[in-house]
Amino acid sequence: MHADLERLIALQRLDTATEAARKKLAEEPEREKSLDARLDAAKQRVASAKERLASNQNARRAMEKELAVHQGRLSKFREQAMAVKTNQEYHAIQHEIAHAQAQIKTHEDQMLEGMLEADDLTAAVKKAEADAGAEQKAVDADRKAMKTEHLELEKSLERMSDERTAIVGALDRQLLQTFEQIAKKRHGIALAEAKDGICTICHVRLRPQVFNTVRRNEAIVQCDSCQRVLYFVPAPAPAAAAAPAADPSAQPS
Ligand SMILES: [Zn+2]
Repeated sequence: MHADLERLIALQRLDTATEAARKKLAEEPEREKSLDARLDAAKQRVASAKERLASNQNARRAMEKELAVHQGRLSKFREQAMAVKTNQEYHAIQHEIAHAQAQIKTHEDQMLEGMLEADDLTAAVKKAEADAGAEQKAVDADRKAMKTEHLELEKSLERMSDERTAIVGALDRQLLQTFEQIAKKRHGIALAEAKDGICTICHVRLRPQVFNTVRRNEAIVQCDSCQRVLYFVPAPAPAAAAAPAADPSAQPS
């Protein structure tokens, strides 16, 4: 293979990998933000669960006070019932007693309901706290992985930069300039594989003469349409497929 074509292929591989590594590094602040958002959401769920439990407790305390009021009324009516003089007074006080009893029953039922609800809400708080703990652990693990990845990306960027310097040092100046001009115009891709007579990136059919030259990988040839430098990847030799037929013992007797 043409030495500079080989260098260009290596250069393209490096530049593409470098671009990908830079993109990953650039995405880090956004990833950090989404980790923070996950933690915030988990904390928010704990806070909401605690708020629901607190408002249940407040409602139950208020109900307890009301219940005490009705209980006070009931005992007052019962005392009054001892002192009634007339049938009419007796019926009136009985009516008040029945009413107070009904109120007490209603409040007691509501309080029982509130207590049952408090059990569920307490369990919900515990679950939200456990979930938040698990989320914290998961986020910590993700952060750690991101940090490791960050260091690896920086290391590989450094390594690739050294490799690039070495390749560029050996490459023909003019060719490097051509490569960089095409890369700038073509979203960073200055090379294209030629396959079945076609430039695989812009899909334009190459003239047979051009394709034949490209097939040999011995010259720098640019695609007429996209200007990318063309290279050819030879098909692997079909040695394995031919083997059984060549074996005389495999023939039918
Ligand atoms: Zn092309």
